Amino acid sequence: MVATESKSEQHNASRARETSNLFRAFESEASPRAAQVVAVPVETIRPRHSVRLKCLIPVCEYYDACKICPPRIPGVEEFKAALEDYSHAFLVVLRESIVRIQDLRHNDSIELKIAQLVSDLELIAYQHGFYLAMGLTVGGCKLCPECAPADEPCRHPFKARPSPEGFGIDITEVAREAGVPVEWPPKAFVTFLGLLLVCQPVLSVGSVLYN
Ligand code: SF4
Repeated sequence: MVATESKSEQHNASRARETSNLFRAFESEASPRAAQVVAVPVETIRPRHSVRLKCLIPVCEYYDACKICPPRIPGVEEFKAALEDYSHAFLVVLRESIVRIQDLRHNDSIELKIAQLVSDLELIAYQHGFYLAMGLTVGGCKLCPECAPADEPCRHPFKARPSPEGFGIDITEVAREAGVPVEWPPKAFVTFLGLLLVCQPVLSVGSVLYN
C-alpha cells in the first residue's frame, strides 16, 4: 500500500527544496569569484560576551568610530534572542595565499570583495523569498577611507555590514567546526569569512498554513 503524503510532509518537502535551491544559487554566484559557500547548523553560531569584548580590549580602531561596529550595534544578548528566529546559516569563504603578510595588512581589496559577495548573496536570498536574510562580514567596514562623522548618515547603507565578532560570534570557531581550515596566526594562507543568516518564512509565496 502506498502511503499518501500528508499536507504537512508536502509543506516540509517544499521548504527543503526552497533551501536547497537557495544554496545552489549561492554556489553559482560564489564559485566564479573563487569563493565557497558552506552550510552550517545555526546551533554552531554561539554569540559570547568574551568575543565581543575583544573589540574593546585591546581597543580596535573601529570601536565607536565605525557606524556598524560596537558599541553602535545591538549587544550579544539582543543578537542571541534574534538568532532564535534564523533557520539556516551559510559561511562564505574566500582564501588568499600569503606571499608577504604585510602586503595583505595594507590591502583591503579581499575584504571589499567578500563584503560585495555577501551583499550580493543577501540579495539573492531576498529574490528567493527569504526576505529576512542578513549578511555579516569580517573586519571593520572598509567601504569609505574614513567612516562618516557621527552626525552624518552611513554613505553606503545597503552595502555596509557589521562583523560577526561585533555580535560576539567567533567566526573562526564556526568555520573550523564546519571543517573549513583557518590558520591562526596565518602563515600559508588567510581565510576571509562572511556569514549569511537566513530565516525561512512560515509561508512561501502561494503557500497555505497547515496545522
Ligand atoms: S559605508 Fe562608510 S559610512 Fe557606512 S559604515 Fe562603512 S565606512 Fe562608515
